[in-house]
Amino acid sequence: VDQANRLYEIARDTLVHEVADDIPLSKYEQRKLDGECTRCGVELTEERKDDGESMCAKCHGYVRTAKRRSAQKKRAVWKRKRLCGQCGKKRRPGGKLCPGCSVRYGSVPRHLVDHYVDHGIDRADEKWRTTIEQSPDGVMRERRRFVGQGKRGRQSGEQLDEQDLIDARRCIQDGWLGLAYFRSAEVQALPRIQRDEVKREALAKFERGQRWLEEIIDRNSPKSKKPSSQPDDE
Ligand SMILES: [Zn+2]
Ligand SMILES: [Zn+2]
Repeated sequence: VDQANRLYEIARDTLVHEVADDIPLSKYEQRKLDGECTRCGVELTEERKDDGESMCAKCHGYVRTAKRRSAQKKRAVWKRKRLCGQCGKKRRPGGKLCPGCSVRYGSVPRHLVDHYVDHGIDRADEKWRTTIEQSPDGVMRERRRFVGQGKRGRQSGEQLDEQDLIDARRCIQDGWLGLAYFRSAEVQALPRIQRDEVKREALAKFERGQRWLEEIIDRNSPKSKKPSSQPDDE
């Protein structure tokens, strides 16, 4: 944490002297400051610096492969020991994931949450369908609406909005399932730390959903600078 804080200060390019006076820079910090690869010390290309990379392409590839291999190895061990395949904690009864990961990866046990959640909105139904309907002025028009979503018509013609809506809805549904799972007897019987983790994962889904909704609000607000709005003619 200390090193991360100091690097942040270095990155801001302000407190370098105070920091340097205090404790000598590590090799890592010095390389970062000099715009060199933090692993091998080679000068970084301008492109990589602009992208905020701290390693050269070769080292970056090496580290990525090594990380992937060690993650694979870890997962194989967890699987063999019948632990959560994503994080290595104890699995929920009858599942391959722990309670927290069940929420995070959308595999909440449906039979435990059926009392709480209306499954009328299902993933399989997340499609748009074109229908011909009578508009309020009596004219028959083509409309697009979510399959199985009652009588609400399409609010926006933008493809991006549609995609964001689908994503937002999925996140809300996942968070909803997660919260219901949190309230199930199975999770309530767990130690507090594990209960909290389930709740946190559920709330994280809502936060992601909120971000998708903010995208839509941003895109459609009058001052929006996003691609789908009309460019200024001034
Ligand atoms: Zn390197
Ligand atoms: Zn897990």
